[in-house]
Amino acid sequence: GEHLDARGAAAWIRHAAELVTADAGRLTRLDAAIGDGDHGHNLDRGFTAAVAALPDEAELAGTRPGKVLIAAGRAIVSKTGGASGPLYGTALRRAGKAFGDASEADAAAVGEALKAALDGIQELGQANEGDKTMIDALAPAAAAYRDALASGAGLAACARAAADAAEAGADATVPMQARKGRASYLGPRSTGHLDPGAASTALVLRALADVTGR
Ligand code: ADP
Ligand code: MG
Ligand code: MG
Repeated sequence: GEHLDARGAAAWIRHAAELVTADAGRLTRLDAAIGDGDHGHNLDRGFTAAVAALPDEAELAGTRPGKVLIAAGRAIVSKTGGASGPLYGTALRRAGKAFGDASEADAAAVGEALKAALDGIQELGQANEGDKTMIDALAPAAAAYRDALASGAGLAACARAAADAAEAGADATVPMQARKGRASYLGPRSTGHLDPGAASTALVLRALADVTGR
């Protein structure tokens, strides 16, 4: 649809959890190559907790998308180990706060929320584009979303542009040398591998494109 209400936000979290669970093995293998081999497990646990924290169907009718994302972010922070838990949790909480008390987020509001999520991750993790992190998927995604919105696209098309850009951004981490997180300990040996957090960020944005495109 062209708006994200509480039910839509919950559907996004649920679908993100499905994609993360389905790809947990791949995410863990990516992390085994340049980190400690737990990214798939961490995120699977976090998103499963986020799904468990979602309001039930009856409650969803009376709540707001911002509250749904804040609750999901809190659950992720409390249940996800590793660097990625606080980063993903902050992203979702900031996105939820950006929605404020609105009962529906329109295409522009979702773009603001993506930017708020990006800013939150950068404040917490101090990574910039090119450091081989989830920022390398989320920053181009937020930019592509903004550009699509400016050219008149609606929510679903903007979200699709963001997901496509996140996937391209994740792929572009392969030749990068990590400058943040555990992979940075490898120095030049971190090159030649896809960053696991960028890969998972692409999944979460694909989930948004899928649910808004329904
Ligand atoms: P850990 O490294 O603690 O085991 P995970 O394996 O769950 O945590 O997550 C690793 C991912 O977290 C990396 O692939 C990277 O994308 C992301 N990451 C690590 N540090 C940062 C940071 N400072 N800023 C942004 N993202 C980061
Ligand atoms: Mg790890
Ligand atoms: Mg770890």
